[in-house]
Amino acid sequence: MTSLEQDGRYSRQVLFRGIGSEGQGKLASSRIAIVGCGATGSALASLLARAGVATIRIIDRDYVEPSNLQRQSLFDEADASESLPKAIAAARKIAAFNSEILIEPHVADLIPANIGDLLEGVQLILDGTDNFETRYLINDFAVKNSLPWIYTAAVGSYGVTLNVLPGKTACLACIFSDPPQGTFETCETAGILSSAVNLAASIAATEALKLLVGADDALRSTLLSFDVWRNERTEVAADKPRAGCRTCGEHDFLHLAGEGRPHITLCGRNSVQIHERHRPVDLAEMSELLKPHGAVRHNDFVLKFWHEPYEMTLFPDGRAIIKGTSDKTIARSLYARYVGS
Ligand SMILES: [Zn+2]
Repeated sequence: MTSLEQDGRYSRQVLFRGIGSEGQGKLASSRIAIVGCGATGSALASLLARAGVATIRIIDRDYVEPSNLQRQSLFDEADASESLPKAIAAARKIAAFNSEILIEPHVADLIPANIGDLLEGVQLILDGTDNFETRYLINDFAVKNSLPWIYTAAVGSYGVTLNVLPGKTACLACIFSDPPQGTFETCETAGILSSAVNLAASIAATEALKLLVGADDALRSTLLSFDVWRNERTEVAADKPRAGCRTCGEHDFLHLAGEGRPHITLCGRNSVQIHERHRPVDLAEMSELLKPHGAVRHNDFVLKFWHEPYEMTLFPDGRAIIKGTSDKTIARSLYARYVGS
């Protein structure tokens, strides 16, 4: 008998016929990845960790900020005031309510160069990202490696989710052949209702449970979208791959090949991410060097440097997020001046 059975932790879930003790046993040897741990990722991680998924790898590039607390359910005010990386804060929070499972936090931006390492050995990938660039990268990787993944997105009062089972159902590129171009609504422009994102994540987490326990007949094979404010719900058939799909039909993995992935990217409306070189930075040492130039604070995971009107957050791998500008040239010169070129 395992300790899980001894403490009755999962007894209510085992009573549910769709799971049962056989299903619970499968969860106890499941290994998944959640890419992005903002609002969607928090809800996915919380639901699946409580459900007893044995190993959950959480990959997120960001740190907790006060504006996250309205909807990102794994974080609290202390996380925000410490600027803890979301992956680390999530792992700590989950350990407090389920210490029997393994959380593998990675403070990293999922990119073509590291996706093979970061998603190695998982049986399911869940999308908690906020951008199409990463979703198409996940789609390429999942199709190439015949790994299921679940697309989930929410903005405003709207949410959408899709199960992608390579070789069986439509992939993301079957439905939307290219990432949307130009301006489209994001949380920063249209706002977001926490209830919309939590509903989308709940539906996706349930599909994940079905996949992990082998309840394939119960899996949804549509692109499901809903609007919790307007009370609208739409489903589009996604049970078959689209003939001629570049990704799952022709196996042309251009996102995995790294096309269209500049090293300096806009992240959010008024911030720029620099990840052109992966050179480790000693945050304590850097903190001393930066002191004469502005306010600086660091912990084991991030360094924050305020240099009016900019705010730079530096990670130990040399990656930085610079706030206060959307101008990549300004961001790069600031980085070069204070961190090195
Ligand atoms: Zn496809």
